[in-house]
Amino acid sequence: MSKTHNFNAGPAILPVDVVKETAEAVLNFNGTGMGLMEVSHRSKEFDAVMVDAQNDLLKIMNLSPADYDVLFLGGGASMQFLMVPYNFLHTKADYILTGVWAKKAYKEGKYFGTANVAATSEDTNFNYIPKTYKFDPEADFVHLTTNNTIYGTEWKSIPDVGNVPLVADMSSDFLGWDHDFNKFSLIYAGAQKNIGPSGATVVVVKKSWLEEKGKKDIPTMMNYKTHTENGSMFNTPPCLPVFAVGRTFKWIERQGGVAAIQEKNIAKAKIIYDVIDSYPEFYKGSVKNHEDRSLMNITWNLNTPELETKFINEAKAEKMIGLKGHRSVGGVRASTYNACPVESIQALAKFMEEFYKNNK
Ligand SMILES: *Cc1c(COP(=O)(O)O)cnc(C)c1O
Repeated sequence: MSKTHNFNAGPAILPVDVVKETAEAVLNFNGTGMGLMEVSHRSKEFDAVMVDAQNDLLKIMNLSPADYDVLFLGGGASMQFLMVPYNFLHTKADYILTGVWAKKAYKEGKYFGTANVAATSEDTNFNYIPKTYKFDPEADFVHLTTNNTIYGTEWKSIPDVGNVPLVADMSSDFLGWDHDFNKFSLIYAGAQKNIGPSGATVVVVKKSWLEEKGKKDIPTMMNYKTHTENGSMFNTPPCLPVFAVGRTFKWIERQGGVAAIQEKNIAKAKIIYDVIDSYPEFYKGSVKNHEDRSLMNITWNLNTPELETKFINEAKAEKMIGLKGHRSVGGVRASTYNACPVESIQALAKFMEEFYKNNK
């Protein structure tokens, strides 16, 4: 494998094992003498891939198959911005706005009814997680975004929403932080940040909520029930991404599960945050409160845009790529997803120390 240190925000680094297993399956899937892209999704070999992925995910999330269904849909997390309200917004829903992705979800909600803002951190360009909310106990659901990929903030604990169903976009920290997933009525995540290639979006939905509150009279492909009733194979699923995502779930199991991954992520992120905190006049962490700092996307600025460009270019020369901040905020962003090895993090920390000495 190449020695590039991959800090891309998404699509992003995957475990080496997963990449190798997927490459092998592309050539000869499960000893069939055919590549994974060349076999029917109705074959018993692919069916096992789908069912294993669904069961493994519920197991690592500590959810019961009696209570939750797992879907792998196309359209990205962006499609879920509209599928959630299409199925569940009858009159009004609460949205917590912690970034551009959350705002995009909120915008789609407005097409289906009243979308209320329960809290927002837009006043200071989303550099914190709000701690007070205005929840409506009558809302159809509360929507939040657990990790804000662009700004580098992350929810470490989930607010109490009472009996209102909780929906979360977990795209950029899915299976990176060990929430009590039973608290959620629906979770979705585009695979390409933390668990696989682009093309599959994971949806985990509580069966009883869908049964009781899911709208019946909506177009077939938009209806979650169409997909739950057909084992996520109403139409051709994204077969190759589902295979890769399934291998990532097995890799997570081998790592000791989500709790063990979370511990590793805490230790990994600390290495970079410690450098930032050692030279606060030089590396300016973008997130206001330390407890809101993301383990997945670490964001900071330097004193001038020129110095930031110099940092990013010199890092690239040392084979550290993907460090440019999102075009809407600038600065530097290191995405340190589950599969990012500690060796890459240590290399970046060492580079930051040297860059400080040479440019302070
Ligand atoms: C990247 C991202 C999205 C958009 O995902 P697509 O799969 O490209 O639609 C949505 N939400 C969050 C939190 C993201 O990081």
